[in-house]
Parts: sequence; C-alpha cells; structure tokens
Amino acid sequence: MHDYLLNNLPKQLETPEGYIRLSGPLEHDNIVNGDGLRAILWTQGCPNHCKGCQNPETWSYEDGYLAKIDDLKEELKAFKGQAGLTFCGGEPFVQAKACKEIADWCRSELGWNVWSFSGFTHEIIKEYGKEPWEFLKSLDALIDGPFILEKRDLSLRFRGSSNQRLLKLQSGTGKILSIE
Ligand code: SF4
Repeated sequence: MHDYLLNNLPKQLETPEGYIRLSGPLEHDNIVNGDGLRAILWTQGCPNHCKGCQNPETWSYEDGYLAKIDDLKEELKAFKGQAGLTFCGGEPFVQAKACKEIADWCRSELGWNVWSFSGFTHEIIKEYGKEPWEFLKSLDALIDGPFILEKRDLSLRFRGSSNQRLLKLQSGTGKILSIE
C-alpha cells in the first residue's frame, strides 16, 4: 500500500493557472465533515480507486468542471458564520497547488481554519514533499488514509474505516499535534 500510494501522489491533475477542477458546487453550513459549521469544497480526480469508495464518479481527471479560483473566493466570502473550510473529494492532494492557494486565502482573509480529507497518509505526503507537503502545512487538520472496505466502521467521527486518522496539525509546519 505504501508504494502504491507513493506512486499515485505525483499524478497531479493539471489545470490552467487560476483554476481548480471540482466535482460539485461549494457547500456551506455542513456539520459532518469537520468541527463546527463548515464550507465544503469538492475536488474532482482521485488516482487511488479504493474498493468501496462512496464517490467513484470523482475519480476521473476529465469529469467535473473547471472553476475559477477567484470566483470561488467571492462565493466563500459570502458564506456567513462558518468556522472553516474542508476539502473533500475526489482527492484534494492531486490539486495541491490550487488547494493551497484557497486554503491560505481562507485563513488570511476570512480567519477560518482549514481541514482536508486525503486518501494519502501524512507520512506519504511528507515523504513525497513538493506541492502536496506545502498544502498539508496550510492545514489545521487532516483526515488521512485510503478507505479500506474490510475496516469499515461507521461509528468513527468523520472517517469511514478504522485505518483512517483524524490528525490535528500545527499550521505552518505540518507537525502532528494529536491523533484520533
Ligand atoms: S481516496 Fe477517497 S476518493 Fe479516492 S478512491 Fe479512496 S475513498 Fe474514494
């Protein structure tokens, strides 16, 4: 699994400068993908293809649609009372550069915290480095690891299988502060 994931992380989904590929529109007032009321950004594209994935329609790198990041910022600005933004997928870390830009903007302009889901683990992202690691360093929390059908556990907070972890991170360094 380690080598499989490490080989998949370089498969970054290329987009024109200033754009990100999404699988659906922005959401707000979501309470199931992180602490507090949250905006949700649904990215398109995932190379991991976990058995039992709930969103296989998000795997393709061609489906979904290109959204202009500046337009997304305007939409996010209009959402009131949100604690933060969560990146869901699809796999946010294959669009790491665009996600980092949005994450940093949410923090500096809106004062929000930023969470992300990923089928990659913290260790894999750190080992690979580059843009995915830079995006991770912009986060306050990461729910990490692939979905493993044999380990499915619906009682877990924010997670689908027991191998997945909720990591609280030190923003700016990517250091793990706590593991659930
Ligand atoms: S990493 Fe997530 S989106 Fe990708 S296949 Fe696995 S469960 Fe589905």
